[in-house]
Amino acid sequence: MTATATRVLVLNSGSSSVKYQLIDMNDGTRLAVGLVERIGEQASRLAHTPLAAGGDKRETEGAIADHDAALKAVAAELAADGLGLDSPQLAAIGHRVVHGGLKFTEPTVIDDAVLKEIERLVPVAPLHNPANITGIRTAQAMRPDLPQVAVFDTAFHATMPEYAARYAIDVETADAHRIRRYGFHGTSHAYVSRKTAALLGKDPSEVNVIVLHLGNGASASAVAGGRCVDTSMGLTPLEGLVMGTRSGDIDPAVTFHLKRVAGMSTDEIDVLLNKKSGLIGLCGDNDMREIRRRIDEGDERARLAFDIYIHRLKKYIGAYSAVLGRVDAVAFTAGVGENAAPVREAAVAGLEEMGMAVDASLNAVRSDEPRLISPEYARVAVAVVPTDEELEIAQQTYALVNA
Ligand code: AMP
Repeated sequence: MTATATRVLVLNSGSSSVKYQLIDMNDGTRLAVGLVERIGEQASRLAHTPLAAGGDKRETEGAIADHDAALKAVAAELAADGLGLDSPQLAAIGHRVVHGGLKFTEPTVIDDAVLKEIERLVPVAPLHNPANITGIRTAQAMRPDLPQVAVFDTAFHATMPEYAARYAIDVETADAHRIRRYGFHGTSHAYVSRKTAALLGKDPSEVNVIVLHLGNGASASAVAGGRCVDTSMGLTPLEGLVMGTRSGDIDPAVTFHLKRVAGMSTDEIDVLLNKKSGLIGLCGDNDMREIRRRIDEGDERARLAFDIYIHRLKKYIGAYSAVLGRVDAVAFTAGVGENAAPVREAAVAGLEEMGMAVDASLNAVRSDEPRLISPEYARVAVAVVPTDEELEIAQQTYALVNA
């Protein structure tokens, strides 16, 4: 790495998509952002926005066969703006890796041994880690000389005490199959809990925060003095809150019942709980905007789906208040948390005895900035804190390669 290398390319490789951002670490400026979708299909799509050049979004459609072709197409787009992967200003590539198991609790420079270990975790993250690995391999082939760093979704939760991380099942069986609660969305929970402390004018070590990451996937975490002490997702991202398409918490016996009585296969149950449950299963929509619109029109199913979503959220706020003992702030983030004022209002309604309240006019403000939405008298700060997982990955990557 040269002294002028201040840029980090962040890659988030999914099974059929690659999201990317090129960030200048001098000031966190986005130089380019983009997304390749439907990789492997005939109608793949690449949307690239050269922010540094002040250019408009460029969209191209056509078959992109695999991740290798996708990354080559991204590299070509970047090169067209003078931001190619061969630039001496590129310091590193930061990869989002979903599952780091117990081994990876910090961002890690990727070598063959690290890649092998990420592969060893595929059985506990079959939907995510294979795509992450493909993205890493492809990027390594393009720039073998450049540091590539893995930033794990599970890492921030590694500080959970054993009594929060362990399921109450037979210890030998659990350990033999690495079954425990790992938690996900860790980069978001880390970033948002730190930003919330800054919003309160405090050091992260001084505050206890409940972070509610409410996107299409959703998770809550209890963060005490900057360290995660509990989180709602578990072995996989299926546990916890009601999500766009996932059930969240459910009696595990439901799965036996579906097998024995409904005659469903394990794969069918997996699809049911991960893809056809949550808001979409309850009312046919997983977009909170559409659900609110239907509620305004008097739609009962949408109303019930919303009420179930809020009820679960409230239970987690209560549980994590008890876990933390003292709560300084509740922070809403991600697509729903940042944008859906009715969700924030309903989640906190009736919690005045716990020191929590939302001011209607502050809650109605739309902004990209972290902000308080609680009235001055409230003992607990309620905040909206936009998440930025890409910046967090870039910062962790850059800090590691400069260490
Ligand atoms: P994310 O996974 O963080 O990108 O969040 C995506 C989800 O955010 C969508 O499925 C919507 O439910 C929700 N969302 C995005 N914008 C809004 C909005 N303006 N109002 C309500 N919900 C929104």
